[in-house]
Amino acid sequence: MALIDGKKIANEIYENLAKEVSELKEKHTLAPKLAVIMVGDNAASLSYIKQKRKACEKTGIEWVQFDYESDLTQLELLDKIEELNKDNSVHGILVQLPLPEHFEVPKVIRAIDPHKDVDGFTAYNLGKMFLDVGFEDLPPCTPAGVIKMLEYYDINPEGMDVTMVGSSNIVGKPLATMLLNRGATPTICHIKTKDLKKHTLNADLLCIAVGKAGLISEDMVKEGAVVIDIGVNRTDDGKLVGDCDFETIEKKASYITPVPGGAGPMTVACLMENTVKAAKRLNNIS
Ligand code: NAP
Repeated sequence: MALIDGKKIANEIYENLAKEVSELKEKHTLAPKLAVIMVGDNAASLSYIKQKRKACEKTGIEWVQFDYESDLTQLELLDKIEELNKDNSVHGILVQLPLPEHFEVPKVIRAIDPHKDVDGFTAYNLGKMFLDVGFEDLPPCTPAGVIKMLEYYDINPEGMDVTMVGSSNIVGKPLATMLLNRGATPTICHIKTKDLKKHTLNADLLCIAVGKAGLISEDMVKEGAVVIDIGVNRTDDGKLVGDCDFETIEKKASYITPVPGGAGPMTVACLMENTVKAAKRLNNIS
């Protein structure tokens, strides 16, 4: 078994981006800037925001954060997004999810200018991704991070049977699509799937993004499969774990991602990449 080291790849991405950002500043007087909107005080969100801010510091991407109480109205949030859409110094807009319950998330996402949608959540960016690899301009960050991990370890999904467990719009569906774009044969499983084990056992490449610790046990994994665990769960004793039973599956898999240290750092790295890409596109720099 080989461990897929997302942290190491993310750090390499940061080194390259830092050079690129410094060049953009010098040659084009362009300082890529990410605007982050946080509503309320969800503990996990605050921790994710901290990681994103650190990544901006490492790469030289400018960071601006707008914090609001959880009683912010949807109209107020939409107005702020509109203001940031119009602000030429801002290249990426991120609304930290989840939002308090009174917000309609699809409406909020739809308000973001697709060219500044560095999370890759708008219908425009998701829709483009369906066309082919060449149209994955601002892909959702977690799926993009998984693709980069596979590339780094020369794991070619072409011809592979892929089982994607989890069908969310931000992870499962786009990741299955990106793998399809690369010649894989994906099956997408969800809560209504009749026989999950039948599908996971068939997978050469097994990706899991559900959020249930222990969902995937060793007997559900094919010998030699590549296992990408995207789930994040906190155990009673405060430990972070994925959706897979890591200790037993690592003996069976050819490659496996750890949690933490796999998909998580890569998601943040891809957010930084998308921000730089958006800044260049908005300023017609190739
Ligand atoms: P989500 O929107 O809640 O989606 C979960 C998916 O899992 C849904 O498609 C759901 O099916 C499916 N599901 C639930 N129980 C299942 C079961 N027993 N068997 C098969 N499928 C089942 O979550 P998400 O946003 O995609 O996130 C999933 C996990 O990934 C979470 O743990 C999250 O924290 C983690 N995540 C990590 C990163 C990272 O950077 N590492 C980024 C994003 C997400 P239905 O739709 O049919 O209910």
